[in-house]
Amino acid sequence: MAFDAEAIRKQFPILSRQVHGKPLVYLDSAASAQKPRAVIEAMTHAMEYSYANVHRGLHTLANETTDAYEAARRKVAAFIGADEGEIVFTKGATEAVNLVAAGIGAGLRAGDEIVISEMEHHANIVPWHFLREHKGVVLKWVRVTDDGVLDLDHFQSLLGPRTRVVALTHMSNVLGTINDGKALARMAHEAGALVLFDGCQAIVHRPVDVKDIDAEFYVFSGHKLYGPTGIGILYGKAGELAKLPPYQGGGEMIGIVSQDEITYADPPHRFEAGTPPILEAIGLGAAIDWISGLDRQAVAEHEHALYARVRERLNGANWLRVIGEAPGKGAILSFTVDGAHAHDVAQILDRYGVAVRAGTHCAEPLMRRFGVTSSARASFALYNTQEEADVFVDALTKAQAFFA
Ligand code: PLP
Repeated sequence: MAFDAEAIRKQFPILSRQVHGKPLVYLDSAASAQKPRAVIEAMTHAMEYSYANVHRGLHTLANETTDAYEAARRKVAAFIGADEGEIVFTKGATEAVNLVAAGIGAGLRAGDEIVISEMEHHANIVPWHFLREHKGVVLKWVRVTDDGVLDLDHFQSLLGPRTRVVALTHMSNVLGTINDGKALARMAHEAGALVLFDGCQAIVHRPVDVKDIDAEFYVFSGHKLYGPTGIGILYGKAGELAKLPPYQGGGEMIGIVSQDEITYADPPHRFEAGTPPILEAIGLGAAIDWISGLDRQAVAEHEHALYARVRERLNGANWLRVIGEAPGKGAILSFTVDGAHAHDVAQILDRYGVAVRAGTHCAEPLMRRFGVTSSARASFALYNTQEEADVFVDALTKAQAFFA
């Protein structure tokens, strides 16, 4: 049976609103996805019925909330094929990368090498730059081809005896390129490096099995996965998490504290100092339940068909430059319009009710690589329809007429 985007849309209250008197066409899901009623209701229910702080109470509400929080951890673990002790709740993917970089970085020396790529989001660049600044670690950048593919020969050539960490995106938020996590991890492991994948985009569009990929660390955010903001996931192999020092100090992450001694809790609680994002974890658990009820293959095909339709309709547009044409790429269209600034394009599209993102997409090295200062980006999600794809193309065609 064909994927029923209309039925899915009805579960997203926000999608029925209008913008500038036009039906909202939301093509900015790569930045943050809208929320289905299941997520909204799970969080509302927790606040209305069973809410307290976790892990420290002996009363019913505290116990119920703790159960819901830990159940969310188990849902995340099952979703990516991990054990629950390998799932750390953070406030986002950004915090998860920072946690790993700070932890691993403590043991690095000047001249040690970290391999990242030109297609990384700043979340997977800046924490490693900190180590360059503070520890003299050397950053090595894997090149991206003109099509937007990670250059594997170049990657191989960068791996060497000083490579300590390989940190790469599983799917580019700009190019839509999907990298072969398993193959990249194998190559990195042959060089003796630890591997981290930024799964922010990939986790939304394809099943992820962290045991199969075999990276030491895998991070993503809840809000792109139809869950709430303020929650992210750090998956780490149990043995690797155990080696990391605490990231922040405070309640809940300790073993014992005295006036002149301190011990730390085991992972994952060692990395969850203070009151954690309780409602957000419950919301993410609901999002995962919701996604798990869908045919993910059908979702992927639907999203791909949206992209293919847009791409085909724009094929002859000589005023358009598409950035990222990797084979098998996901449903993200980054582009520039001749003679127009991406911000202006996005603002005109907004007048037609079409929401796209414009700017550097927190990927300045990639912008530089492609010789642009910014681009516009339409990202397609399971709730978008063929009609919306057409509204976008029509609005873009009209928008470019302003600049012709
Ligand atoms: N990595 C990628 C590929 C992203 O697209 C994003 C968000 O845009 C991030 C990392 C950072 O995620 P967050 O801002 O939720 O921490």
